[in-house]
Amino acid sequence: MSDSNAARATPASGPVVDRLAIIGVGLIGSSVARAARQWGLARSIAIADASAEALAAAERLGLGDFYASDPAEAAKGADLVILCVPVGAMAAAGAAVAPALKPGAILSDVGSVKGSVAAQLAPVTPPGVHLVPAHPVAGTENSGPEAGFATLFRNRWCIVTPPEGADPAAVETVSRFWSGMGANVETMSPERHDLVLAVTSHLPHLIAYNIVGTAADLEQVTRSEVIKFSAGGFRDFTRIAASDPTMWRDIFLHNRDAVLEMIGRFNEDLAALARAIRWGDGDTLFDLFTRTRAIRRGIIDSGQETSEPDFGRRHDVSGAG
Ligand code: NAP
Repeated sequence: MSDSNAARATPASGPVVDRLAIIGVGLIGSSVARAARQWGLARSIAIADASAEALAAAERLGLGDFYASDPAEAAKGADLVILCVPVGAMAAAGAAVAPALKPGAILSDVGSVKGSVAAQLAPVTPPGVHLVPAHPVAGTENSGPEAGFATLFRNRWCIVTPPEGADPAAVETVSRFWSGMGANVETMSPERHDLVLAVTSHLPHLIAYNIVGTAADLEQVTRSEVIKFSAGGFRDFTRIAASDPTMWRDIFLHNRDAVLEMIGRFNEDLAALARAIRWGDGDTLFDLFTRTRAIRRGIIDSGQETSEPDFGRRHDVSGAG
């Protein structure tokens, strides 16, 4: 994180809810637990996870006040229940907590696709419980409770996607909870979210998975050469392509239409670039590369990325750079 990011981060202190339940204590769930604890956003934190190993790690790390293998046990009496499980597991997790939810409780989640999650959770949300889905646009390529950290959401966006007619007070509570962890909150429809994220997150991940797969399968270039000369750009794709396979499988299967639309656009643009290269059309290449450089500058200026060379990587004198 750059210094300018740190300067803008002002997580709030003070409880937003009495009892918080986190279902799924992986990278995101454990980061929520850490941040909520650090900034005192809940008076107590209950944690559940399907994985006995993850639950034991959460307990060892002291991430909550109460631990259960049964999501219903953790959700009992909670004011805010956040499902932090893969998108494909949302319906099961929602159904598991539903019978334990008290009237007036808020059911939320952190899933990376919002249309599908809303469709999975709406039918299992009991009357009197407020469904307010959200997506923190923050993460790393690592998974599990050990990978989380309290500042993950600082100066990152959290997109809240309330269903039509959602209770404004419940939406306000979810928004205050995320801004309490240092996130900038924006409200959007699930459809808009899924389209925006298809181009800013899902397509780049698909391209990274594809390019690393292509390089791994190349016969003319050896695998040791790919690794040895990776600093030429390939290495940055491998970071993204190391992201959690379950999470990303679910994202592509659950945001199918928006992703397919973006792949269509991408293929057309790639074909135009191939044509420019074939016909020696340097102006087309130069114009595009100038426009893309300006986009990178805009991301840095908005505080979403460091301006340090090579993403701020530290190199010692013998480093490959
Ligand atoms: P993660 O590190 O893999 O953790 C997910 C945890 O949930 C695992 O311990 C998993 O156990 C458990 N789980 C799965 N199904 C469950 C169920 N039905 N009930 C209770 N626990 C269950 O995943 P993550 O990276 O934190 O991602 C969680 C969610 O956040 C996903 O929806 C993802 O789309 C979203 N998200 C991720 C990122 C990111 O960069 N990672 C960023 C923003 C949003 P098992 O391992 O036994 O299945």
